[in-house]
Amino acid sequence: EIQTIDSLIAGRAVARPDATAIIDGDRCCSFAALDDHVTAAAGMLTAAGAGAGDRVLIVAENSLVTAVFIFACLRAGAIAVPVNARMTAPELAKVIDHAAPRVVIYTSGCSAEAQALAGDATPQDMGFGAFHMAKCDPKPVDADTDDVAVILYTTGTTGAPKGVMLTHANLMFAGNLSARIREMGQRDRIYGVLPLTHVFGLASVLIASTISGATLQLETRFSPAKLQAALMDGVTIFPGVPQMHALLMRHAADQGTPRLTGSALRYVSSGAAPLDPAWKAKAEAFYGLPLQNGYGMTESTAGVSGTRNAIGDPDTSVGQPFDGVTVRIDAPEGAEAGEVLTRGPHVMKGYFRAPDLTAQTIRDGWLRTGDLGRFDAAGRLHIVGRAKELIIRGGFNVYPPEVEAALNDHADVIQCAVIGARNASGDEDILAFVQCRDPAAFDTVALATFAAARLSGYKRPTRIFPVDSLPAAPTGKILKHKLLDTFADRLT
Ligand code: ATP
Ligand code: MG
Repeated sequence: EIQTIDSLIAGRAVARPDATAIIDGDRCCSFAALDDHVTAAAGMLTAAGAGAGDRVLIVAENSLVTAVFIFACLRAGAIAVPVNARMTAPELAKVIDHAAPRVVIYTSGCSAEAQALAGDATPQDMGFGAFHMAKCDPKPVDADTDDVAVILYTTGTTGAPKGVMLTHANLMFAGNLSARIREMGQRDRIYGVLPLTHVFGLASVLIASTISGATLQLETRFSPAKLQAALMDGVTIFPGVPQMHALLMRHAADQGTPRLTGSALRYVSSGAAPLDPAWKAKAEAFYGLPLQNGYGMTESTAGVSGTRNAIGDPDTSVGQPFDGVTVRIDAPEGAEAGEVLTRGPHVMKGYFRAPDLTAQTIRDGWLRTGDLGRFDAAGRLHIVGRAKELIIRGGFNVYPPEVEAALNDHADVIQCAVIGARNASGDEDILAFVQCRDPAAFDTVALATFAAARLSGYKRPTRIFPVDSLPAAPTGKILKHKLLDTFADRLT
């Protein structure tokens, strides 16, 4: 018998009814109130016709109303499909077409974007935040959705986002894992700025927090100033993406506070994208804590491996595979790295409405991650890059994260993204898009010289483009496949 996620909340409501489950701005919601809200919202979904196997699309930003509807879907036996409200109307139309939902919920009370997308859907307020609801007449879809709890769309770093079907068992396994690794308990307060529409926010923040009875402090948009204030106001656990740590470091430096002192923070981690060694070192000096690096993806319900380092450890790995998770490398004989394969209770059920892609991605129970990695002698996994993003220049392999780390180390670089582009002679050029404060005044020659001192010749950027922002997902991850389009006018 697998414990379902909504039964967790009911259990918490009995065990500690008055403890704070979720903080959303000025709103503090106890476990008892959360349980009541979830029951009310589930009743509304059922009345709207959403039952077993039906999808409920939640056009969401991090908020109480989003958390309530995710749990309400599970209580109603429906499948929650939380998607970020920061998309365009045509993008949303595509998601609706693919997910074929019975009901769409827009978290309009906390998001101007969701409100704009809601159109003429019906406004409602049941006491846990305003929303709009639209009923749809979904066309029947051919997919095995047995035990599926959520469908999450991947970030879309390498192409169109894919709908990943995660089961109750997947989410319970991943949530328990995160709670255990961080030794989370009732006294903890976890900062929830990772989007609940992304697997790290959903599994390793929302579910882990509910499992452990901790308090979840939700934040709609990342802001280094708000984060710094929250860290001084009782937050004990902060999981972020590398970009959040980097932006916080920069903010703290601007404020003249190179160190965080007097906070209750006790655990801080980075995941979802490569962690730059220089950023890691700076962040550890700031937090006064080790910055643990976790590796995973939507298809693996977040967790595959993670570090357990002491502060100042120069480890650049993503740690050892978690308990119950198996990892192997599929490398050709003598190769330095190969594709990372993983197997275990964290592997998704499959891609929604894409059986062929599912069959290519999961073979004999092994999930093919598309990432390139290797194990070191201590059994730690190192991710060197993605297979799709590997650059081959003059016959040599160039891994973009290594080039990015060298450029990020420069004081004038906020963050950067490196991609390959085929040139007229059939070789690949290395293009570096560098986010900086003042692109017009940026000294690209100085950065090229800086890079040359750190990278062997074939790894050095062929061209450097200073820009004021990079196309990014709501997590802060850079959408590399959009770079060429976004900066098309600069490339000629
Ligand atoms: P898409 O699959 O749509 O192209 P995506 O792979 O970026 O997008 P996610 O599931 O959000 O979507 O991200 C998972 C990927 O992020 C992993 O496959 C890996 O490439 C990268 N990643 C996650 N954690 C780490 C980490 N700690 N170090 C390096 N890379 C990481
Ligand atoms: Mg992916």
